[in-house]
Amino acid sequence: MSELNLILFGPPGAGKGTQADRLRNDFRLPFISTGDMLRGNVKEGTELGQEAQKYMDAGELVPDELIVKMAAERLNESDALDGFILDGFPRTIEQAKALDKQLTEVGRRVTAAILVDVPDQEVVRRISGRRLCVKSGHNYHVDFDPPKREGVCDQDGSRLIQRDDDKDEVVRNRLKVYHDQTEPLIDYFDDQGLMRRIDGTRSPAEVHDHIRAVIATLRMEDDV
Ligand code: ADP
Ligand code: ADP
Repeated sequence: MSELNLILFGPPGAGKGTQADRLRNDFRLPFISTGDMLRGNVKEGTELGQEAQKYMDAGELVPDELIVKMAAERLNESDALDGFILDGFPRTIEQAKALDKQLTEVGRRVTAAILVDVPDQEVVRRISGRRLCVKSGHNYHVDFDPPKREGVCDQDGSRLIQRDDDKDEVVRNRLKVYHDQTEPLIDYFDDQGLMRRIDGTRSPAEVHDHIRAVIATLRMEDDV
């Protein structure tokens, strides 16, 4: 059976991170989130983190050359050589082309791009209630997925915080950036027959089942 090289994408707040936590347990594939990697760099104060932070705070995309280099290095690590799930990358046509080029050079290709689709109004509701565990980034929502104890992570007891870029005015800009720069990827992947759409407005469990079914079908198609 050949490898699964998957892209998970969709508007901010669509539930990609939530699904990542679940899919990690289902498939032995590394889950690579460029947003998490950038936040790690900001926290550690690396040169990349310092450069990226101003874009992230404004809800803008970090320039392609910085992101492409960071993602390429990560994909070259040994755990990603037999497949991966990418979250939040590629986010522009330029990035998608760079990824294709990197994979093609070593005889690999993207298996599918899974779009978790959610309308803007729902995005705003989800992001305004999103809370993250300060230690390992576990995801919660104050109404839709509350922790057992308010403000405390169920999994490791750490404090829950709101991301700086989850404040209202930044969210509106992130949505605009998504529509302008990332949505064109739908046609890009469609043209290559790689697009799979998921209704992200369903419950986390239903979305999870749907994504698993899509991946199971991809595996079967690959086996025949
Ligand atoms: P979201 O909640 O929008 O899915 P992420 O955690 O994926 O957010 O990303 C947070 C921020 O990190 C983005 O708003 C952007 O500034 C930056 N970022 C993450 N991935 C990319 C990328 N592939 N290209 C450019 N910027 C990125
Ligand atoms: P993304 O990684 O796509 O930016 P998240 O997984 O962080 O999105 O989800 C955004 C917020 O919405 C979180 O607070 C999360 O708990 C909540 N959420 C995720 N999936 C669903 C869902 N299917 N229904 C309702 N709320 C959800």
